Amino acid sequence: MLAMAVADPEKADICLLSFDPGFVMYNIIADFVGINYVGVPLNEDFSLDIEVTRTAIEQHKPAIIFIAYPNNPSANCYSENDIEEIISIAPGMLVLDEAYHPFAQATFMERLSEFDNLLVMRTVSKMGLAGLRLGLLCGHPDIIN
Ligand SMILES: *Cc1c(COP(=O)(O)O)cnc(C)c1O
Repeated sequence: MLAMAVADPEKADICLLSFDPGFVMYNIIADFVGINYVGVPLNEDFSLDIEVTRTAIEQHKPAIIFIAYPNNPSANCYSENDIEEIISIAPGMLVLDEAYHPFAQATFMERLSEFDNLLVMRTVSKMGLAGLRLGLLCGHPDIIN
């Protein structure tokens, strides 16, 4: 739904940026709604490469960035400082996908009010309830509205 919200058939340069290896659905969904996918490679230890990310953001000006936190498939949480840095340079929405939150101690949910372009997404799927198709999205009322 978020990718659909930024898609515009009149524009060829709308971009969804995420990180590889990462959750494959971001790329599939970008294709599905007709926007470009840019996958920024992670470091060998699966941490974020801030310099490469900064260059990719400057070049592609992504309308939306997805960060899986913890990451799927590598299972690590990124450094909070790195995420803050990416939130601050993101020209559009930054979605922190906390699908694996039930297995992690880290979250940005309590910090939502510090950032007006941050959205936090969760799902009950990884608690074993994938068939319910139930998730939630939290963020600034201007974006949610
Ligand atoms: C499983 C998963 C989702 C969403 O799963 P739904 O079943 O569609 O709620 C989203 N992001 C990541 C990273 C996941 O692993």
